[in-house]
Amino acid sequence: MTPHAPTLYFPAPRAQQFCSQCGERLTRLIPPDDNRERDVCEHCGAVHYQNPRNVVGVLPVWGDKILLCRRAIEPRYNKWTLPAGFMELGETTAQGAMRETQEEAGAQIELGPLYTIIDVPHAEQVHFFYFANVLSEDLYPGPESLEARFFREDEIPWDELAFRTIKSTLEHYVADRKSGTFPIRYYEIPDPYPK
Ligand SMILES: [Zn+2]
Repeated sequence: MTPHAPTLYFPAPRAQQFCSQCGERLTRLIPPDDNRERDVCEHCGAVHYQNPRNVVGVLPVWGDKILLCRRAIEPRYNKWTLPAGFMELGETTAQGAMRETQEEAGAQIELGPLYTIIDVPHAEQVHFFYFANVLSEDLYPGPESLEARFFREDEIPWDELAFRTIKSTLEHYVADRKSGTFPIRYYEIPDPYPK
C-alpha cells in the first residue's frame, strides 16, 4: 500500500468550541462515570459526544471492467475513486452507497453483496463497500467528479487512486477474481503516522 495516500474524505471533525444547546464555551474533561475526555458544557451540562463516521460506497462492475470516478473536489482532487461518501442521517448503508453512485457517476446500478468493511480509527471512520452491477454503459457524473469511466483490470490507475480504502478494496477484488469467490473482507487501515 502507498504509505502516504490519505484516508480522509474531508478533514476529520474537530472539537466544537461552543455548546450547540446554550452557546457557552465548552470544556474538555472526563465527565463523572465516564472514562475519556469529552466536550462538556459546564453551563447547561450537555456532553457533546463524538463518534466515528461511516463512509459508504460501491465497487461497480461492468463485465470485465470496473467503474471509477476522478475527483473534482479536495482532498485528492484529480485522483480516482470508487463512488463513495459520508452516510447521511436517515438512510441505510445500502441506500447511502446507491445515492453516492448516483451523485458521483450517474450510473444505473443494481446493488450486490457487501464486500469490504474497513476500520480507519486514526481518521475516525468506518468504510463499507458493496458490489454493484452496472446496468448501462451510460454515465452522468455529477459536480463532484471530473469524469467517470470504466477500467479493465490492467488499466486500473494504481498510483492515481485517491484513498487507501479504495486501493485495498480493488486489491482484494483483483486477487479474489482469480478464484471467483468474493468473501466479505474485514480489516483495518493502520495509522501511517502513529503517535
Ligand atoms: Zn450548554
